[in-house]
Amino acid sequence: MDPTTRDALAERLRFYREMGIYDLYRRPVDETAVEAIAAEPEPMSKKLTVIQDRPIALKGIREDIGDCTRCKLHEQGRKQIVFGVGNPDADLMFVGEGPGADEDEQGEPFVGRAGQLLNNMISAMGLKREDVYIANVVKCRPPGNRTPERDESDTCGPFLMRQIAVVKPKVVVALGAVAAKTLLGVNDSMANLRGRFYDFAPMLPKNAPERDSSWPGTKLAVTYHPAYLLRDPRQKKETWKDLQMVMADLGLKPPTKSQD
Ligand code: SF4
Repeated sequence: MDPTTRDALAERLRFYREMGIYDLYRRPVDETAVEAIAAEPEPMSKKLTVIQDRPIALKGIREDIGDCTRCKLHEQGRKQIVFGVGNPDADLMFVGEGPGADEDEQGEPFVGRAGQLLNNMISAMGLKREDVYIANVVKCRPPGNRTPERDESDTCGPFLMRQIAVVKPKVVVALGAVAAKTLLGVNDSMANLRGRFYDFAPMLPKNAPERDSSWPGTKLAVTYHPAYLLRDPRQKKETWKDLQMVMADLGLKPPTKSQD
């Protein structure tokens, strides 16, 4: 067995072990098929494998989170962990800050009023909510909807990074300053952060099974959080400019009606 195949196999076995799968059965080897796979250009065969495994990989991350007590948000009134929702093969991923009351109640990100606005933004882009993937920086509701504290974002952030590495979207849209700061590692105003693309590769934990050297990373755009837009609707125009920039990059057709 060549070293690349051996490493890939070892990584896959580690991944299954972390998911709690220990019993693996070996099928008789079809030498012709092995040769055919070996002859394929590597990025293609690797991409196909990864695409097929995305729902399982996301499930594995959720299982790794478990009934998490890693940061203090676990004891500050959360009802449940809000992991993420959407298409594991999405080209577009939205990243928010953290769950609010409705999200905490229903276990899904962006389902309250801000969620309705995000749904409208997604429709305006010519997509459906089910087409995209949506997650937050922290998976537990901060009390009183306060901003997640640095230690909380730092502790929970690696799970988000792993989600991004599994979905491999073509564009990530960071909604609001907390998401932007967590993902980009910079501390700047929204006015300075938005309106352009950044090259982005998720910072993964050392032993994360999602590490994939064939994936160069993705593009990241920053725009206002829908909850902020509810408080200051004047910024919707600016947000729409950011979304149009993303649409142009993804080749999405301009909508026929306005997001409002
Ligand atoms: Fe764990 Fe994240 Fe919840 Fe903190 S916010 S308890 S790290 S799942």
